[in-house]
Amino acid sequence: MEILEKARSMLGKYPICDHCLGRQFALLGYGLDDKKRGDVMKTLLTMEANKLALVGEKDGSLLLETLATNGSFDMAAKVLAKMGRMVGKKRRCHLCEGRFDQLPALVSRSVEKLEDYDYATFLVGINLPNRVEEKEDEFKSEFEVEHSEGMRNGFSREIGKEISRITEKMVEYKTPDMVVIVIPFSDEVALQANPLYVAGRYRKLVRGIPQSRWFCPKCRSKGCVECNWTGKMYPESVEELISAPLLEETGGEETTLHAAGREDVDARMLGRGRPFVIEIKKPRKRLVDLKALTKAINKQAEKKVKVLSLHFADKDTVRRLKKGEGASKIYRVIVEFNRVVPDEKLRILEQTLTNAIIRQQTPLRVLHRRANRIREKYIYEAKIERLKPNRMEMRIHCQGGLYIKELITGDKGRTDPNVAALIGAKAQPMNLDVLNIIPREG
Ligand SMILES: [Zn+2]
Ligand SMILES: [Zn+2]
Repeated sequence: MEILEKARSMLGKYPICDHCLGRQFALLGYGLDDKKRGDVMKTLLTMEANKLALVGEKDGSLLLETLATNGSFDMAAKVLAKMGRMVGKKRRCHLCEGRFDQLPALVSRSVEKLEDYDYATFLVGINLPNRVEEKEDEFKSEFEVEHSEGMRNGFSREIGKEISRITEKMVEYKTPDMVVIVIPFSDEVALQANPLYVAGRYRKLVRGIPQSRWFCPKCRSKGCVECNWTGKMYPESVEELISAPLLEETGGEETTLHAAGREDVDARMLGRGRPFVIEIKKPRKRLVDLKALTKAINKQAEKKVKVLSLHFADKDTVRRLKKGEGASKIYRVIVEFNRVVPDEKLRILEQTLTNAIIRQQTPLRVLHRRANRIREKYIYEAKIERLKPNRMEMRIHCQGGLYIKELITGDKGRTDPNVAALIGAKAQPMNLDVLNIIPREG
């Protein structure tokens, strides 16, 4: 069927607006929007009908009547009026139920809501009722429509284009700052602010602070006597110390800390710090001054935690960070033995642990949250210095993921070799620090 013939038979059966008519042929032509495309077809049909009507063909005036009513087309109505004919009423579009006429209102509502946010990119998402989509599917098969575009696309492109023109912000498909969810059939607009990611490194300069909020297991964070009504096991965490100024500055709702591994609560994290990404949910402001924020965080954290090299990141950074958990680490640990240890033994210990493979079964203390299996981890170098007859300082450069405390105690034989067994004495780790994290090559 010819394009115009098809359009004519559609209009003959159903009321259809310019947008919806044009959309049935959206893949034909170039640089036209659907409304214009529909308008062009109705214009040509009106001219055709006018020509027929002028020579007294009944078909001509019938078609003009169809265009004026089912097509809601003013030109056809005017031609009929000029010919002294009665003109029927415009009819509401069978497909969109007149919703495309509401576009300007939906756009201005979207723009108004977006004004509360600071963003560079957005994407429009459309929610349609099932019955509307089903109706359009039936329509398409009835008229063997082959070059159409879905109603959802029609709405999202038109609304996106208008918002972009008014706000001068860009439409972005992959990682938009804002998603504008429009429900044309109930005149609703909702906004979703995608998370903001800030990456950096942190140093933990004191012991006794967990990396992230550690909720009280007794009350499940509701607050009880056990946790002094805080709902938490520790009053502060690295995450909270970093996130407080960030939340304040961005107006976000909450944060999640993603880090390349974690040190124990009682271990410090020194050197160049541990890489992290903090995810700020529902931020209102994105273009924050990270230099000023670094200062604010470091001031507020009062020498407990220090952040460095803050920069904007994205979801991919989090993925790479998790992969980077295999980076090697340098630890320093003070070890106390239950008896005097001769120099000779310490020298042998140093030699044995350098370039050694440690077979480590999941430590008893983390067994409740980690699968029970054996890991092999490599120690590149161990350096030992005696501090007292029964006390030594050990520096270990090893593969990430080696549990240091268990390397010392032996964890009831679950870590092999281990310091206690090699020395032949009970060994207790005292102070543990991560001195540095060394990213994997490449
Ligand atoms: Zn329509
Ligand atoms: Zn509690």
